[in-house]
Amino acid sequence: MDKLYVMCGEEAEALAVSLLEEMDVAEELKGFKRPLIGIKPNLVVSQPAQWGATTEPGLVRGVVRYLKSRGFNTLVIMESSWLGDNTRAAFRVCGYEDLSREFNLPLVDLKKDKGILVEAGGLKFEVCSSVLAVDYLINMPVLKAHCQTKLSCALKNLKGCIPDKEKRRFHALGLHRPIACLNMAVRPGLTVVDGIFGDLLHEEGGNPVKMGRVIAGRDPVLVDSYAAALLGYDVDDVPYIRMAEELGVGSSVLEGRVVERNSVGEFAGSFPGGREIDFLKKYVEEDMACSPCYGGVMHALMRLKEKGKLKGLPGKVQVGQGFKGRGGYFGVGECARGCESYVRGCPPKAREIVAELEKWLSLS
Ligand code: SF4
Repeated sequence: MDKLYVMCGEEAEALAVSLLEEMDVAEELKGFKRPLIGIKPNLVVSQPAQWGATTEPGLVRGVVRYLKSRGFNTLVIMESSWLGDNTRAAFRVCGYEDLSREFNLPLVDLKKDKGILVEAGGLKFEVCSSVLAVDYLINMPVLKAHCQTKLSCALKNLKGCIPDKEKRRFHALGLHRPIACLNMAVRPGLTVVDGIFGDLLHEEGGNPVKMGRVIAGRDPVLVDSYAAALLGYDVDDVPYIRMAEELGVGSSVLEGRVVERNSVGEFAGSFPGGREIDFLKKYVEEDMACSPCYGGVMHALMRLKEKGKLKGLPGKVQVGQGFKGRGGYFGVGECARGCESYVRGCPPKAREIVAELEKWLSLS
């Protein structure tokens, strides 16, 4: 079964190169004769990646550099921003015009594309012709929350591959089933997730959380199962993941399939603001926390807030390298193992933090 590779850090370009090397993507591409490779980032709105909604261009640069260095030169970047935004503006604002000039890469605005009718999972819908024309598609979503589907990552990012009229129809159909069917019709060979900055609440950004990691895999169902856990959800909290699995798109089983390259203490980071983040920070005592740990705490506290349990917490959550060798009430991560209760892992996922916080609440 396909594996999932995760690396923590903030150097997007270097992380992308390292992950593609580890997965030996070039070997897989040798099966094609001069393949046309499509790269599909998430440029849902015209905002820099640090706002939490769009794919960091440095991550795409890493993928392009890796491919070109191995002789794969026929590359194209393709995207369609959401209804009401302009893809050309997003290419410019998000740094993709610079990337295009640097590597002589075409930028395709899928809003201008012809739709081709397909049928998948019992649903008929149109897919943009440029997407269907590539030999190999690399999906490059952002790890972020979504106000309707809870999660936006690998499976949902393909909604940018359909014409605007189909985006409207997908919403009218409740999003979940159409997203699963779309992933039957369009099958990326590889997914590389920008998990450096994502959004706490919405797909359009504005409440950025630094999660400090990049995730890569060939199975988008596996990628989204892992992503859901990072945001504090179970697979069944995001219905389209299970629907896609049932349609044969991939497998949600994580056990034995995740290769995590985390190294303690190498990735201490700083944390952006935003009203909701500032509110949640009141429940945290932080001392030299790494971004993946701290970001996980933010998502976990948000899940508790949604359940109406946040105000019942008996004390602050303690996180960071500064807690090594110190005591406390409730710690997150191996650095805080001296606390009375602590969540194992370096870094732990938000789902594990939520589970331990709920135990702590039930004992208090
Ligand atoms: S457990 Fe400590 S070293 Fe590991 S990610 Fe958390 S703060 Fe960083």
